[in-house]
Amino acid sequence: MIRGSTELVAIVGSPIVQVKSPDNFNAWFAAQGKDLAMLPIDLRADALDAFVLALRGWQNIRGVVVTVPHKQAFASRIDELSPRARLLGAVNVIRREADGRLIGDHVDGDGFIGAARQNGFEAAGKRAVVIGAGGVGSAIAYTLCQEGVTHLTLSDVSPQRLGALLDALASAFPAVTFSTDLQTLAETDLLANATPIGMGGTGELPLPQALLDSLPASAHVADVVTSPEITPLLAFAQARGCSIQTGPQMARAEAGPLGHFMGVTPLQL
Ligand code: NAD
Repeated sequence: MIRGSTELVAIVGSPIVQVKSPDNFNAWFAAQGKDLAMLPIDLRADALDAFVLALRGWQNIRGVVVTVPHKQAFASRIDELSPRARLLGAVNVIRREADGRLIGDHVDGDGFIGAARQNGFEAAGKRAVVIGAGGVGSAIAYTLCQEGVTHLTLSDVSPQRLGALLDALASAFPAVTFSTDLQTLAETDLLANATPIGMGGTGELPLPQALLDSLPASAHVADVVTSPEITPLLAFAQARGCSIQTGPQMARAEAGPLGHFMGVTPLQL
């Protein structure tokens, strides 16, 4: 029940019907007896400036989860960005301070690392390969560097995206050895697919089979794709004896960091 006293959070994107956050957050608020609710908002891009102005004055909203296609547009319109949101040029969550200031962060990487930990994988001291340097791949790569990987190999079909991310990460994390050389996966501790490849039952793999055949059984293999839950890459990894991490596991592990940043949940739900 939404009452006059209910404090709000929102998720804003376009389209919005597919998002799972309102189900998850509202179920948690109800189970905890909290007078809080999450609204889904399908926002047109030409209304962004007016929406940001409204957010500043909207006194019973605590924050907003931001999804496609507005992650970059919000980042350039709010008052303060976390260092990682600044480097990524994107936000996926905004907190509204009591005085109306809007502060942004990007916590996709926290969801990824939370799910990895739940699967017994710690990134510190490890060698990681991330396929995809887009929104989620960049966030994962940043967080892996923060967590202390020693080597990070990145790949993307877009040389511009790849180059920009490598330049930004190399200056932020001088202790990490970066590479784009993907001739073998023999020394890989973590392989992450951060592209949409494998989505929707196409059967596609994000890397050639011959290269995947060099992956050791000791590697942890993660996919960001949420449907199907077991992607072709994860099915291959399972058959090889690798530990695996699914897209839905990452999404679930991200709810705590999103809610915590807005001040409405603990870090772990
Ligand atoms: P994006 O378009 O920003 O990035 C995708 C990147 O993959 C692009 O840079 C593209 O050039 C690259 N790419 C595509 N095919 C490739 C290939 N064969 N090899 C190398 N690079 C390739 O998209 P995004 O926002 O980063 O989302 C990527 C996927 O992650 C989507 O399927 C999205 O649904 C999913 N996602 C999952 C979660 C989760 O919690 N599990 C969170 C966010 C996004």
